[in-house]
Amino acid sequence: MIDFHCHLDLYLNSREIVAQCIERRLHVLSVTTVPSAFEGTAALAPVDGRIRTALGLHPEIAASREHEMALFERFLPRTSYVGEVGLDASPDHRPTLDRQSAILAEILNLCARAGGRIITLHSRGATGMILDRLAAELTAGTFILHWYLGSAKQISRASEMECWFSVGPAMLTSRRGLSAVKAMPREYILPESDGPFGQVGGRPALPWEAWSIVPKFAELWGVSKGEVEAQLLDNLRRLVVDVACG
Ligand code: MN
Repeated sequence: MIDFHCHLDLYLNSREIVAQCIERRLHVLSVTTVPSAFEGTAALAPVDGRIRTALGLHPEIAASREHEMALFERFLPRTSYVGEVGLDASPDHRPTLDRQSAILAEILNLCARAGGRIITLHSRGATGMILDRLAAELTAGTFILHWYLGSAKQISRASEMECWFSVGPAMLTSRRGLSAVKAMPREYILPESDGPFGQVGGRPALPWEAWSIVPKFAELWGVSKGEVEAQLLDNLRRLVVDVACG
């Protein structure tokens, strides 16, 4: 099973959740929202296991935590993964959009200079703008658009840029989410929970519940659940070449 965007450090019972992820042999991309959380979050997971920790600076707080960019730069050599980063142009965060954009540009430039990273991106209210920013720094690495609600045309543009998409159960409950998912190429999709922010049944989604997208995709693609599972695992192996097998 896979959860390619999860905030393990933000669950109230993080250690218990991590222990269950290990027991379930779940592949997790454990994302962070500030660089100062990176070391503590990385320490939750065993070294070289199926849980990988990403270095992030979430767009909702990027402007107020801009002073942490020095830490971002210091920790970047320690990980192949960056996130959660991106842009948020929803009403509450639109006032800082210019700062967010400048910070994202700096992050992408650092990634490019470091030889590229796997980067998980937030784009609420900024589905077109995020593509413009990524197009300006294509050597920053491999982009995973998380919970991406772009139009079919934007998804096609993202695909031309070889972007990936991470999709969670919550996204499949909205009409807009579903129509985005239908436009995404199945070879570039990974499951995500976005827990504990992502919800299932009115409570925080658990990492292994990311896999609950499988039956819905079987229905959408007109294939068996086994074929969906094989596709998602194959996708992970293509994206992360050193992924632990099994
Ligand atoms: Mn998130």
